[in-house]
Amino acid sequence: MFDKILIANRGEIALRVVRACREMGIQSVAVHSTADSDAMHVRMADEAVCIGPPSSAQSYLSFPAVLSACEITGAQAIHPGYGFLSENAAFVQAVEDHGLTFIGPTAEHIRVMGDKITAKDTMKALGVPCVPGSDGGVPTLEDAQRIGEEVGYPVIIKATAGGGGRGMKVAQTAADMEQAFHSARAEGKAAFGNDEVYIEKYLTTPRHIEIQVFGDGKGNAVHLGERDCSLQRRHQKVFEEAPGPCITPELRARIGKVCADAVAQINYIGAGTIEFLFENDEFYFIEMNTRLQVEHPVTEGIFGVDLVREQLRVAAGEPMSFAQDDLSINGHAIEVRINAEKLPNFAPCPGKITQYHAPGGLGVRMDSALYDGYSIPPYYDSLIGKLIVHGRDRPEALARLARALGELIVDGVDTTIPLFHALLAEEAVQTGEYNIHWLEHWLEENLN
Ligand code: ADP
Repeated sequence: MFDKILIANRGEIALRVVRACREMGIQSVAVHSTADSDAMHVRMADEAVCIGPPSSAQSYLSFPAVLSACEITGAQAIHPGYGFLSENAAFVQAVEDHGLTFIGPTAEHIRVMGDKITAKDTMKALGVPCVPGSDGGVPTLEDAQRIGEEVGYPVIIKATAGGGGRGMKVAQTAADMEQAFHSARAEGKAAFGNDEVYIEKYLTTPRHIEIQVFGDGKGNAVHLGERDCSLQRRHQKVFEEAPGPCITPELRARIGKVCADAVAQINYIGAGTIEFLFENDEFYFIEMNTRLQVEHPVTEGIFGVDLVREQLRVAAGEPMSFAQDDLSINGHAIEVRINAEKLPNFAPCPGKITQYHAPGGLGVRMDSALYDGYSIPPYYDSLIGKLIVHGRDRPEALARLARALGELIVDGVDTTIPLFHALLAEEAVQTGEYNIHWLEHWLEENLN
């Protein structure tokens, strides 16, 4: 096992990795920008190195800055968290070229899955069910119009390099195609430097179901069931749960095996998530994320495993500590994302925290880097905490979530806490009967 690792991230996820390291007797090195000198991850890690100015490009995203910090501190491996450098194949290559270990998949796996067209082709070949659509990239408007007719409207035009909900446009009818095609291309080019797009049937009432997979890089892999992340705003998840309210043990076993077999076949190493849209009891692959997800704690809650610990184990060449038969589901877990944002427009709301109180009690986990007097800098993501609850079943988890939200105090900035109080009062949330569009409609009716 490693003696010392560096965490190339900030906020709650950096803290999450520090905690796993401490339990495993591994020294942790935090890196931070000048805007994060007082951040919790800097205080909690064993060592900290300032790697640059506030701009992410010059600090958290800078290869030389991060690699130099490794060299100075003698860290043997880098945990990327999520976001930042976590899915950057060139960075993984640079880490390896420096004789260090990247705690995550290989550069090749990241490259294949980072391009959505290659990812889809690869998954299809591995027997994973996909959304019907174009065979690869769609170069011209005429091609797009022809495929629109073949697949049947509505369709969605997606940038192959897209991510974070950007670079996707829906064409409801043939009349929308020209506008949607050009704007998806323009967005892909502007945000990701790549204007290649592809087309998929637009599913009108799906749920978002994702399968957690884990591989040892030697042809062994398991699945850890699904997470339902159907409550989304602008394609961004806000509320996640496991197990999925609509997934039967039979469906889980079937899709879980397909996913575990697929990643075993490519010798995948570490944590990964295979995302699907789920409609009429059918799964349709949309993308694979080659990293730890923000919402991984709900899976940890119901399986009782520490996914970061497993990441460290396999990265160090050790076997996974569980096989498929050791994994069974216990109860129900829900996560809500607490963002420093002002409703109704969800405008980022950085500023000083005048009072912070985390909820506690049975089945409550608060992953957050907040503390009394902390100033949220304006330069980064607005996620300031994740409240995760675990109960024996879904009703108990929902009641526990309402109770824990009532205890949570974050004063000084606006947050998304009131959104969750309101959502918990909704029948659809209580019954779990919603699809990926439900929250957008609800927000239009209730917040504007
Ligand atoms: P990103 O990489 O930007 O997160 P995804 O491909 O994962 O993009 O899609 C994000 C979200 O967009 C999905 O969770 C879903 O809400 C919506 N979406 C993507 N593809 C389709 C589709 N074919 N039909 C309907 N909705 C879709």
